Amino acid sequence: MKRNEAKMIEQEYDAMNTKITFGIYGRSARQTIKRLKGEISRIEKKLSRFVNGSEIDRINQHSGRDPVKVSRETLQMLEFSKRLYEMTRGAFNILMGPLVDEWDYLHAEEKPDGLSIRNKMDLIDGDDLVLNPMEQSAWLRNPGQSIDLGAIGKGYAGDRCLEMLKQSGIESAVINLGGNVCVRGKKPDGTAWKVGIRHPRKENALIGYVESEDEHVVTSGDYERFFYDKEGIRRHHILNPVTGYPTESGLISVTVISENGMAADGLATSLFILGKKNGMRLLSLFPGTEAIMVDERLEVTVTKGIEKSFIRFDGITMNAI
Ligand code: ADP
Ligand code: MG
Repeated sequence: MKRNEAKMIEQEYDAMNTKITFGIYGRSARQTIKRLKGEISRIEKKLSRFVNGSEIDRINQHSGRDPVKVSRETLQMLEFSKRLYEMTRGAFNILMGPLVDEWDYLHAEEKPDGLSIRNKMDLIDGDDLVLNPMEQSAWLRNPGQSIDLGAIGKGYAGDRCLEMLKQSGIESAVINLGGNVCVRGKKPDGTAWKVGIRHPRKENALIGYVESEDEHVVTSGDYERFFYDKEGIRRHHILNPVTGYPTESGLISVTVISENGMAADGLATSLFILGKKNGMRLLSLFPGTEAIMVDERLEVTVTKGIEKSFIRFDGITMNAI
């Protein structure tokens, strides 16, 4: 290997409401990072409900009125989301926009009052998303409804990044999209990339790491976006569509590992909401997909397929199912 190929080019990028880091080996690393940033920003402009005129914004603006033509790419994401909505019996629900706004994690110091939560509950019925594949359109039945792809958007961007790395001839790279880690190939020395799994209750600590190659390692936790309300209760950003409140499933962190980034992202959120038992049932419908779950007592459960490549640190208790 030539000397200039053995140096990792590292860069940071703020997009999709998070911090993205690139670590890429290879002669075309800098040029590839430029292309990756372009792609991530293209996806954000198309899918973010906070970008005026994005496809999702247009669907939301037309809610209660008429169907909106969308690109094949957007339609595929909406179709996948709907499938996951059905498979989770509504736990995973991209129509949570109005409720997410009500909780306003970026600014909140107190939970919203019960009445305003109840008022929003009428707007989050996932069945109100009507997709028409023939016309390639999407429609929300009622005014005030809104789609929020926060739970799968970064996963999809990760898929695009890995594809782009392959196309660009990059053989070794790791990209972290705010907790969604995408791994390309092995390290130049031939060993596997190690992806750290954060300790959900200790700052700057890990529970262990997974050895990973050409796949996505995606974590949903209650420790990333949250605030403590006046009663001292932790209020995090993954909401239970049945109660309108942050989910309490017994799990506080879920990592899903898969070759499909969008599935990994959607499943991490879903398992977090469903809890261990129902989560495992869902996961069994996605062959080749593995999980690392941490419960409230900080006990770790991993799926059999990942047992050997998950290396836990001292003091962490673990079982495999
Ligand atoms: P992160 O974006 O922090 O990596 P997730 O992938 O788990 O975490 O997505 C959480 C986001 O998904 C929330 O910030 C919100 O926008 C949205 N969301 C909240 N509750 C649900 C839900 N029940 N189903 C689908 N999306 C949700
Ligand atoms: Mg997710």
